[in-house]
Amino acid sequence: MKRLHDYREIVGDRVLSDIYQTARKLYGKRVVHINSTYTGGGVAEILNSLAPLMNDVGIEAGWRILRGDSDFFTITKKFHNALQGDHIKLSELKKRHYINTCENFSIYTHFNHDCVIIHDPQPLPLIEFYKRRQPWIWRCHIDLSNPDEELWNFIKGFVLRYDHSIISSEIYRQPDLPIQQRIFAPVIDPLTHKNMPLKEKEIDRNLKKHKIPTDKPILLQISRFDKWKDPLGVIDVYKRVKEKVDCRLVLCGSMAADDPEGLDIYLKVKKQANHMVETRDIILITYENNVLVNALQRKAAVILQKSIREGFGLTVTEGLWKGKPVVGSRVGGIPIQIQDGKTGFLVEPKAHDKIANIIVDILKNPEMAKSIGKAGQEYVRQNFLITRLLHDYLKLFTELL
Ligand code: UDP
Repeated sequence: MKRLHDYREIVGDRVLSDIYQTARKLYGKRVVHINSTYTGGGVAEILNSLAPLMNDVGIEAGWRILRGDSDFFTITKKFHNALQGDHIKLSELKKRHYINTCENFSIYTHFNHDCVIIHDPQPLPLIEFYKRRQPWIWRCHIDLSNPDEELWNFIKGFVLRYDHSIISSEIYRQPDLPIQQRIFAPVIDPLTHKNMPLKEKEIDRNLKKHKIPTDKPILLQISRFDKWKDPLGVIDVYKRVKEKVDCRLVLCGSMAADDPEGLDIYLKVKKQANHMVETRDIILITYENNVLVNALQRKAAVILQKSIREGFGLTVTEGLWKGKPVVGSRVGGIPIQIQDGKTGFLVEPKAHDKIANIIVDILKNPEMAKSIGKAGQEYVRQNFLITRLLHDYLKLFTELL
């Protein structure tokens, strides 16, 4: 069972004491989180840690998953893409199926809580089907810097009913949204299997078990097979790097249950990687395994996050936490996490040559890589650990409940 005091050595007494004190005024309050998947992706990752920790400090925090059929998730994935800038044909059929799915779920999901927290657009319309006796918060984890106008207008119709919204970065603030928009930074849990310390021996044993050779430096991107994570671009960058320094590319991307596009993108990636998959220069991993992700991040020589759009990009903080040089695109939530040249490297996602040159530089300068990695780790300790998010929520509850 997750306990706050387990984090004491990592974050220090002051942080724990602040959290306990804020929580004291909220003892016994009941809150519920709703999202649309237990596994895969950053939201599930955070709720897995946040929900138990809220309970540990005295809040009765529940977590429910919205049920939908595959059509629903195809529609909401299109919504997700369009909120991140794609065009969408917003038919009445799509809107109706989206709203009806939420209505059906509402019939057998009862809320007697003091606060309801809705994550992302999938369960957003739920608010229409309840007599609201409590504050409702919409927590949007996606990149809202350039949403499709028609879809945003439709989505906004639901958001307007909420008491409060939470976004991941200042750049997602919607000037036309009259409700409060608060910023909560992305965070990781340093004690999960994905982030806990691993001994060198354990790392090597784990990679061996998964048949990942360690004879060459590893360039790593951990990301769902999603066009916004640009896995095809990663392969192109890798080929440029490999012309100068021999290394191996590992692309690790599980399929999230609420992401129906993953298989299609994976097949494209496999085609582009072509014979390099057979020679094991490029290794593609499609299953979910937290210790493996941890071991890969700890073994990698360079961690890349070459997203074109990115709500927050937890993988960046995960990589920094492992003391690794992380090269991330200057998009969405990534620049919040990296101070360019100090705690990592920020790049323009389309500048493949430049990205390759930075990676080559890192591979040739292990001392520089080490010191940047160390600075990145400290930056995460100060700013992006789960205790910080827990405290942010508690402070918000204190205001709203
Ligand atoms: N992840 C994983 N296995 C994979 C791909 C991703 O465990 O094969 C995890 C990753 O480590 C991170 C989360 O899923 O914790 C992805 O969150 P992020 O914010 O980077 O992106 P999202 O998928 O939410 O867009």
